[in-house]
Amino acid sequence: MIHQELIQPGSIHVPFQEVRPKSYQVYMETFGCQMNEYDSELIRAMLKTQGFGFTDQSDEADVILLNTCAIRENAHNRVYGHLGKLKYHKQERGVVIGVLGCMAQNLKKELLDSQPFIDVLVGPDGYRQLPKLLTTAITTRAKGLSVDLSEYETYEHIIPERVSGVNAWIAVMRGCDNFCTFCVVPYTRGRERSRDPQGILLEAQGLAEQGFKQITLLGQNVNSFRFDHWDFAKLVTAVADIPGIERVRFMSPHPKDFPPALLDTVAQHPNVCSQIHLPLQSGSDRVLEAMGRGYTRKEYVQLVEAIRRRGDIPLTTDIICGFCGETDTEYSATSQLMEEVGYHAAYIFKYSERKNTIAARKFPDDVPEAIKTERVAQLIDRQKTISLKNNRRMIGQTVDVLVEGDAKKSSQQWVGHTESHVTVVWDKLCRPSQPGELLSVFIEDASASTLFGRPN
Ligand code: SF4
Repeated sequence: MIHQELIQPGSIHVPFQEVRPKSYQVYMETFGCQMNEYDSELIRAMLKTQGFGFTDQSDEADVILLNTCAIRENAHNRVYGHLGKLKYHKQERGVVIGVLGCMAQNLKKELLDSQPFIDVLVGPDGYRQLPKLLTTAITTRAKGLSVDLSEYETYEHIIPERVSGVNAWIAVMRGCDNFCTFCVVPYTRGRERSRDPQGILLEAQGLAEQGFKQITLLGQNVNSFRFDHWDFAKLVTAVADIPGIERVRFMSPHPKDFPPALLDTVAQHPNVCSQIHLPLQSGSDRVLEAMGRGYTRKEYVQLVEAIRRRGDIPLTTDIICGFCGETDTEYSATSQLMEEVGYHAAYIFKYSERKNTIAARKFPDDVPEAIKTERVAQLIDRQKTISLKNNRRMIGQTVDVLVEGDAKKSSQQWVGHTESHVTVVWDKLCRPSQPGELLSVFIEDASASTLFGRPN
């Protein structure tokens, strides 16, 4: 029986199976990237539509879900650590335990075999099955598995259950066809599929009506967004034209096929944020080729120059240290390029071999752990110096800040971001404000990560 229609105007029926009347309570934790956060919002919507409730207390839950990440070894280790603690809930209360997301997809039955107290394992394309699998696990104790990848699943017509706030994520595409040799995403999230732009625009309009001020369009490689005659630049423009949306962001574009039209969009639309995340990964041509990134150092630099010709567009990046065979000279090439580009921020990680990837099959993971650790620490230090220099340039300037909420360190302070996505903190006593407000803030001081100011 088709149980209930999911929210969207003009929506189709989502083929859920009949579920039971009692409202079982779910506790869910999310690991990893924004795409996983977005998927957790989808999962909440699907489970709530089927009568499940949600709780913030794991002690009160009938079901505990971990939405996992597989991108790095430490992401796996964090999940294993949590699973160890969940055994207690299982033994004491017989709670149903579900592992979702990329780690479930990548390890599949191996994870079920090694952690036999897991009841349900569901990959990123199987979430429509989750209500049925959980219900079965609760009522019959039968284990459930849904780890088939789909060429079509985009969760169209399911409106994520968002925590009300200022920023909302919208996934515009899923999967990746790039097969960078180090990356597990093509194996855990499958082939590239783009959503129908009409559905995306309806969702964005709904968000504007609910008072969301910023929309971040998400995709593993947003350059690959294609639907009929729509490309990503056209989509960003259409979202930016929706009344009430103060800021539009997107992540991440791939340097190998960055569309020039997207730069026009950024330049021509004041509410499309002029900050671009441009993952470098390495500054060495030999390493870039081994990673299968599809661009050389020179091509990357040319793209940075083309972006900079359009104006003062802050860049952020991702870097991997200690990829297979990385020499001191190759590492230095990355460090030099970081300095040359002068990124506003960089996410720097040690290479960790992922099961099933091309690099795991082709290349030995031969850079000693101690060297990887040292290189990461050096690059983080270098980036801190660059970020501090960039941020100190802002002292004495007035910037527009979107107020987001309480600062992490003190509820007596507000936190928000500039258009270029730098964090700004100021005392609440300076001026009454509320989340969602755009404020002019005079910058008085800066650290490597934060600007400190007072509203005008
Ligand atoms: S572009 Fe490369 S790094 Fe990014 S998700 Fe696809 S395969 Fe992974």
